[in-house]
Amino acid sequence: MKVPILIPNIFNHPFTYDSDLKLKVGDYVIVPFGKTELTGVVWDEFEKKTNKNFKIKKILRKLDVPPLKKKTIKFLNWFSEYNMTPKGMALKLLLLSSTAIEKISDEVYEQFKIDIKKNKIELSKEQKSCLKKMNVSNQKFRVHVLQGTTGSGKTMVYFEALKEIINKGFQGLILLPEIGLTGQFQNKFIEFFGFNPAIWHSGITKKNKEIIWSGIANNKIKVVIGARSSLFLPFKRLGLIIVDEEHDQSYKQDEGIIYNARDMAISRASFENIPINLITAVPSIETYDNIKKGKYSLSRLDQRYLNASLPNYEIINLNKSKLKPQSWISKEVIEKVKLHLKKKDQVLFFLNRRGFSPHVLCNKCFSSYTCPNCTINLVYHKNRQNLLCHYCGYKALLNRDCSKEGKCNFIFSGPGVERISEEVRNIFPTNETAIFSSDTMNKKNSSKTLEKIINNEIQILIGTQLISKGFHFPSLNCIVVVDIDLSSQGHDLRGAEKNLQLYHQLSGRAGRTGKPATVYFQTYNLDTKMINDITNKDPNIFLDKELEIRRANNLPPFQRFIALIITSSNERELEKEAYKFKNFIESVVEGKVLGPVNAPIFRLKKMFRVRLLIRDRKSLKVQSKLAQVIQKFKFPVGMKLTVDVDPINFN
Ligand SMILES: [Zn+2]
Ligand SMILES: [Zn+2]
Repeated sequence: MKVPILIPNIFNHPFTYDSDLKLKVGDYVIVPFGKTELTGVVWDEFEKKTNKNFKIKKILRKLDVPPLKKKTIKFLNWFSEYNMTPKGMALKLLLLSSTAIEKISDEVYEQFKIDIKKNKIELSKEQKSCLKKMNVSNQKFRVHVLQGTTGSGKTMVYFEALKEIINKGFQGLILLPEIGLTGQFQNKFIEFFGFNPAIWHSGITKKNKEIIWSGIANNKIKVVIGARSSLFLPFKRLGLIIVDEEHDQSYKQDEGIIYNARDMAISRASFENIPINLITAVPSIETYDNIKKGKYSLSRLDQRYLNASLPNYEIINLNKSKLKPQSWISKEVIEKVKLHLKKKDQVLFFLNRRGFSPHVLCNKCFSSYTCPNCTINLVYHKNRQNLLCHYCGYKALLNRDCSKEGKCNFIFSGPGVERISEEVRNIFPTNETAIFSSDTMNKKNSSKTLEKIINNEIQILIGTQLISKGFHFPSLNCIVVVDIDLSSQGHDLRGAEKNLQLYHQLSGRAGRTGKPATVYFQTYNLDTKMINDITNKDPNIFLDKELEIRRANNLPPFQRFIALIITSSNERELEKEAYKFKNFIESVVEGKVLGPVNAPIFRLKKMFRVRLLIRDRKSLKVQSKLAQVIQKFKFPVGMKLTVDVDPINFN
């Protein structure tokens, strides 16, 4: 019998094999491939046209793994077409290091055994009505959005919904945008359900991944809490997907196989024909558009826990309250913070910039520290005593001879969180402080720091946007946005939306236990339109305006964007080829092909980069036509094309 076998590699089609075994679609098998043996899956169709005359090889054996469901295969096929990535690479996302895990002994799964305890948590009237709306699905596909103010108890609502699904024997998946969150979240889960969920992200051990993969395939594990990649687990009986913080842009996988996990989750739910819930305080523009069109249903939670009100906002005009040289915290703010500390409020100084200073230069020879691999300044990290490229990881020491005479005399331009932290410690020497950024918090020993913050043993935090991502700090009642002018600079179409999301999430960290809270914005900019948008109690007013702008300018979600990034180490050749490539593809694109232009970060990891942008209708045909023609274009050796459908970053 001839069988189509998809293999986890760069091919977009299955290979034909021969077998005497009884095989059906979805079975995992081991096949010879070249000189090696690989794991493959019996696919749902043969390669379309084969004029190659390969000798058909025999399948070696069938693996003891429950077959991949046809629905999941259909999802992977669609994933491959939508994101313009080979089918084999889509399969690779599902397998574990390109293999399937055969049955693991039952005892291992004792730790995940479900034993739902009766909890005493009583939902509020508002929460109950949201749950009711969420549950009207008959277990069929539909997208429901739960929009709730930060701290309004959204999690409890979807936990209840999930409980019903598990009780019916289904599996559930909760997607989270940030792996740093899983610890605090896991505790919340166990407190509610009384059993362990499986935690899935890139940081867990290989052994654990094997246990979870197999447990999911055999329906031994009921709930997975995971980052993007958990979306590709081989669920045997998936019954509900929840995407928490659906607006979060870190759902976009920007490297390797590029995809948006939120959008793919919706699509997987649609292929599985199961309900999906998107959870957010402020929906993304795409989601908001779908709510307005009636494609997604919506429920809203407007009351905060303990009836806490949202924080107050105060604008500190830096033109009046002059800053001392090399300082970034105004006198006015210092006085306010003192009052908060007196009341035992925790205080956060927010600046979205890691390290000590983003720009180091010499005041004798005027040369600055830039990355040798990228067109970007190196950031000085004082704690680590080095300069670091945030894009390629290049490191250098702050030690250089001047082109004039002797050693360079460095000046540091602008602050990062480390520098603000120094200033804070000078002003408040008796208080415990901590920096909250990916440099300090995404580590194994960060849970101790997290605990200290929760217990208010650390009174002052200096944090980057990492802190805006769903952490719950009960004493945090004062936030100082050190420099809203800097954070508002941006050159991409989502700049306004990104800012709204960021500051809304950030403010949501404050005042979570009912005490009054205030967010202070230091600014030189008296045009406070953005601050007004951010601080408006109803974020939908901003979203309505933003949708109108997008519509008027033919921007997503009204049109489809596909970014094509061409990279090469040869700058001259790159430009020439980019124009050739543009001419080549233009004939099949009905919409517009914009560019090529040099990417804002023109050189990244030693490669020069140019970008093209396709703006077209929202139809899968755009991708399939484009994929066909791209295949025929032969780039010179060393030149690489990356396709980013629905791009979020325009670096
Ligand atoms: Zn670099
Ligand atoms: Zn110098």
